[in-house]
Amino acid sequence: MNTQEMIEEIKRLKVEKKALILAHNYQIGEVQDVADFVGDSYALAKYAQTTDQEVIVFCGVHFMAESAKILNPTKKVLLPAKDAGCPMADMITGDELKKYKEENPGVPVVAYVNTSAEVKAYTDICCTSSNAMNVVKSLGVEKLLFVPDRNLGGFIAKQVPEVEIIPWNGFCITHERVEEEDVLEMKAAHPGVKLLIHPECNPEIVKHADFAGSTSQIIDYVVKSEEEEFIIGTEAGILHTIEKMAPNKKCHLLSKCLVCQNMKKTTLTHVYEALKYDQHEVIVDEEIRKRAENSLIKMLEVNV
Ligand code: 13P
Ligand code: SF4
Repeated sequence: MNTQEMIEEIKRLKVEKKALILAHNYQIGEVQDVADFVGDSYALAKYAQTTDQEVIVFCGVHFMAESAKILNPTKKVLLPAKDAGCPMADMITGDELKKYKEENPGVPVVAYVNTSAEVKAYTDICCTSSNAMNVVKSLGVEKLLFVPDRNLGGFIAKQVPEVEIIPWNGFCITHERVEEEDVLEMKAAHPGVKLLIHPECNPEIVKHADFAGSTSQIIDYVVKSEEEEFIIGTEAGILHTIEKMAPNKKCHLLSKCLVCQNMKKTTLTHVYEALKYDQHEVIVDEEIRKRAENSLIKMLEVNV
């Protein structure tokens, strides 16, 4: 089957199986192009929660598909590339968080959605990079534990200085690869061009940003800005989304290291096989699901 035939098959199977294809902005272009909706973690979770299709094919990494299952448990949720995980999500386990809570009673926990269902089950409220600041403010507490991303936690701490944010020591192996040298080189090569950065990057990098925000917020900034050229400090897949939404804008990737190997695992063939053979179904233990759902629903009630 050639690519065009596969795309046609995907479209046919989608109708036959009553399926919805969701794709994160970091997915490869071909996969983004067959999706019904492309977005950041927050938008995808919202979309998954309300769909009336019977099957959700989630082109992203495991925690995203798991969140879809938690929020919409009667649907069959499929993760096309079985081993697409998130190394940052693996930097904290449910048992580790449970132990922390036992040793620090009364300290509320905010968990980035980049966590397992078990971690979400021990969490007071989840957040994404789109609404992390508002989630922290919504709690009205003096102190909280933020897991697992130390960079996003530190970024929010600067914006909400009235709250003491204790960060877990996790990080995104993709965004953490950016070095200050990359910033200086790109700024020298493109003088005056705005630098837009994801807060998963190290603070030493984020401090150079003209704007720091989630994937959708970066896209929004580019689309609405009157300027025509940008340096983008997040995963490479976003350039495809921007190219489609704002074809007149020119974007340079801040570093060639900004490629998430896990996000790149999903191919068109995986999407086709997921639809054809109903693979790979995401299952969540019901007791854990109910507790994790609580944290996700509270998060979705807070605006971006
Ligand atoms: P957002 O989709 O919230 O921007 O997060 C980026 C990310 O790294 C997802 O894995
Ligand atoms: Fe995880 Fe980072 Fe890849 Fe997102 S970009 S899936 S946080 S490793």
